[in-house]
Amino acid sequence: MEHSFRVGMSFGLTSGIITTLGLIVGLHSGTHSKLAVIGGILTIAMADAFSDALGIHVSEESEATHTAREVWIATLSTFCFKFIFALTFIIPVLLLELQMAIIASVIWGLLVLGFFSLCIAKEQKRRAWKVIMEHVLIALAVICIAHLIGDWISSTFS
Ligand SMILES: [Zn+2]
Repeated sequence: MEHSFRVGMSFGLTSGIITTLGLIVGLHSGTHSKLAVIGGILTIAMADAFSDALGIHVSEESEATHTAREVWIATLSTFCFKFIFALTFIIPVLLLELQMAIIASVIWGLLVLGFFSLCIAKEQKRRAWKVIMEHVLIALAVICIAHLIGDWISSTFS
C-alpha cells in the first residue's frame, strides 16, 4: 500500500473513531439529547474531517520528501476515512434508544480500532495484544474523560 494512502487511512480512521466516540459520550452525559448527539456527529464528520485533512496536508508537506501528488493523496484519503468512519456512528443513534446507541457506538468503535490495530501489528510482526491494548486503552481513557466532563458540565450549567 502506498505511504500517502496509508497515512490518510490510519489517521482518518483512528481520529474518526476516537474523536467521535469522545464527543458523543460527552454530549450524551452532558445533555442526554439525541439532537445534540446527531448534530455533534455531523459536525465532526464535516468540519473535523476538513481540519484533519488540512493538518495531514501540512504535516506531509513539512516532511519535504513527498511529491504534490502524494501530499494530495494523503489529504483526500484522510478526509474520506474520517468522514466515513465518523458517519458510521449515526446509524446506532438513529436506530436505537440513546443510552443503548451510546453503548453500541463504544463497542463498534473499540472493535474497529482493535481490528485495525491487529492488522498493523500483523504487518509489522509485532505482538498483537500489545498494540491492541495500547490503542484500546487510549480510546477508553478518552471515553471516560469525556463522560466525566459531560457529567460535570450537566451538573454545573444546567
Ligand atoms: Zn510522509
